[in-house]
Amino acid sequence: MWTDTRPAVEMPRLFERGGDTVSFAGGLPDLDVLPLDAISRQMSALVRLGGRVALQYSTPHVAQALLPAIVDLMGREGARPDAGGLVPTSGSQMGLMAVGLALAVPGETVLVQTPAYPGAAAAFRTAGLRLHALPRDARGPAPEGLRETILRLRGVGRTARLVYCNPTFQNPTGATLDVDRRRELLAVADELGLLLIEDNPYGLLGFAGETTDTLTALAPERVVYLGTFSKVFAPGLRCGWIAAPPEQAAALRRTTEVMALSPSALAQAAIAAFHARSGWTELIDRYRAAYRERCALMTDALERELGDGGQWTWQRPQGGFYLWLRHRGGLDTGPLARAAAERGVSFVPGSHFRIDGEPSNALRLCFSHVPRERIAAGVSRLATVLRGDAA
Ligand code: PMP
Repeated sequence: MWTDTRPAVEMPRLFERGGDTVSFAGGLPDLDVLPLDAISRQMSALVRLGGRVALQYSTPHVAQALLPAIVDLMGREGARPDAGGLVPTSGSQMGLMAVGLALAVPGETVLVQTPAYPGAAAAFRTAGLRLHALPRDARGPAPEGLRETILRLRGVGRTARLVYCNPTFQNPTGATLDVDRRRELLAVADELGLLLIEDNPYGLLGFAGETTDTLTALAPERVVYLGTFSKVFAPGLRCGWIAAPPEQAAALRRTTEVMALSPSALAQAAIAAFHARSGWTELIDRYRAAYRERCALMTDALERELGDGGQWTWQRPQGGFYLWLRHRGGLDTGPLARAAAERGVSFVPGSHFRIDGEPSNALRLCFSHVPRERIAAGVSRLATVLRGDAA
């Protein structure tokens, strides 16, 4: 029985208060950019003209009509997915759970890029896997550390084959792994027979439109790629996909069928219809612009409030949803979250992204869905707590 009582994914909401709170906690997209009238017309036509298919059960395959939308998205980061290796999901969260159940045996160890998206850790734990931190250095996950760790684990009889990464605009740090590092990690994966689990919800949200070739673009045979429409379209449709080598795709398809029978035919059709009509470029550009602006408002405010050689340090995000703020000393940010909630601002303490549950001197700020005019006020409240003025 599953007895872990640690909060899984939704804990940030705990710290949110009433109407006046500025939330830098939950990682939600800014749906103001969606053309709701057009989507509404398309969905209504789908039901009117094809409702007996779109509202019926389907099969655990990506709908033919949705393939161009996926090929278009993945192609923007250098990948050319093979249609036979695509498995539909309700989003990357389901993909993570399916990977844990289909591609590993209970008790097996999965290496995890840390700090880690808590939903990944929770999924792997729920599948009965053991978690081990993937060694890192200033550039991110370290290939030599990966090799040593796998050999050490295998040396003491443990099975270790899966490696989880979120290499582009990572949740929670916003960091992106450079291409050389990607190649080096893939070389180790090749040498030791590893599979990299590439979780990539944010890859197309570079503020300047820049992209980095995905791991699956560089070595499709070594990578199980988790794609999602949640951040380039809308999370409420609960629609995503896995792109995997043939053997893994077969196992994942069987598992996703057990988990959900079939994907939502309506969601797949709605996304296919939107893409066929509008393509991705305009919508993704609008998302990028919205996040670029909010991120600049946040970093400007942080610079004003906490800049000038203070105790807090951060890297300017180049894309995605998140900014990772670190205390130069060892200050535990856990207790600060409660103090911040009292002041009407919320964030997620870094301990939430640790796989060992230890305290952390970092915290995650999400800028993606905060109303523009509230960002400076939110940062100002936050700074009062972080500087210790509130004590
Ligand atoms: N992976 C990462 C890194 C995420 O940040 C998220 C959502 N916040 C997910 C997976 C799950 O997203 P979804 O199920 O909506 O695709």
